[in-house]
Amino acid sequence: METIIKKAGALKPLPDDSDLAFGTIFTDHMFNMDYDPDNGWHSPRIEPYGSFPMDPSTMVLHYGQSIFEGLKAFKAPGDRIQLFRPEENFRRFNRSARRMCIPELDEEFALKAGKELVRLERRWVPSAPGTSLYIRPTMIAMDPFLGVRASYTYRFFIILSPVGAYYKEGFNPVKIWVTEKYVRAVPGGVGEVKTAGNYAASLYAGEEAHENGYTQVLWLDGVERKYVEEVGSMNIFFVIDDEIITPELSGSILAGITRDSVIALARKWGYPVTERRISIDEVVEAHGVGRLQECFGSGTAAVISPVGEIKYKDKKLKIGDGKVGSWARKFFDAITDIQYGRAEDTEDWVHPVE
Ligand SMILES: *Cc1c(COP(=O)(O)O)cnc(C)c1O
Repeated sequence: METIIKKAGALKPLPDDSDLAFGTIFTDHMFNMDYDPDNGWHSPRIEPYGSFPMDPSTMVLHYGQSIFEGLKAFKAPGDRIQLFRPEENFRRFNRSARRMCIPELDEEFALKAGKELVRLERRWVPSAPGTSLYIRPTMIAMDPFLGVRASYTYRFFIILSPVGAYYKEGFNPVKIWVTEKYVRAVPGGVGEVKTAGNYAASLYAGEEAHENGYTQVLWLDGVERKYVEEVGSMNIFFVIDDEIITPELSGSILAGITRDSVIALARKWGYPVTERRISIDEVVEAHGVGRLQECFGSGTAAVISPVGEIKYKDKKLKIGDGKVGSWARKFFDAITDIQYGRAEDTEDWVHPVE
């Protein structure tokens, strides 16, 4: 299949690298491809970024049959552009597709399309420290139909957005709120899928946290409300007695690529790292006897997000001395050094865009 390229007539002015936010600016072009049962995935094309018409009855708007991915392109020394473990994103995209009854696509083709788009938009990859070009592949149900069933037609698109450094005011610990009222996912549900509804479902708990002065929600399991699952839309790690612990992938936790990278590096460095269930009571207890050394989240947006305080019931657990812990710092530096080409890519994680 040949991707047709239709270039934009006039190009947008580039934003200033130093004051980029997240997800507000989009590049000149996007990738589009359609699916119908007779033709399968067809008509791949790169065309000017823009809106496309949708019937008010379009299924995705009503029943949320929609999946997405998030990855980044980084500017490395010598003006090279590189992606971080992108094949993992497209593999997960297809896993998400299967669970949401969306037809899978050729992962290699999709990755190639993403690279082709980034190559065309290379002037949009920012170079200021901590900045990157965010890549958002998305797939949505397109049938104009109000019955509840899987759609027959779909749209797959990729859009690009230059994003600023996540830590503009420095790499600072966040305060997180353990919600006892709401859950994110249950076993057998779609917690392990990057599907739109999960994020809509999380907003209300986020507001509860914000009203109480906390930045993120710490989610407990949906059955016993006892085991830690994720923080906001990141995976979570604890360091207790020099052991790095992260909740095992139980089916209701999103299998983060950053999570996997932290585990891989920890193992390589010879540190004890365990994927297992960890209850909030164990965290409280470890904190009480001074054994909880660190807690941090992991995800593409922030890479590592150190946690400085956990609020659970009437307890406020202060972690460390209010500064970023040494583990969080070590993982953040190691991963970002590979992403930005400042360190050797010993794990074969980087894909050049060329
Ligand atoms: C995307 C996401 C993550 C992090 O995944 P990465 O591949 O590391 O970016 C974690 N939890 C949720 C709910 C997510 O949507």
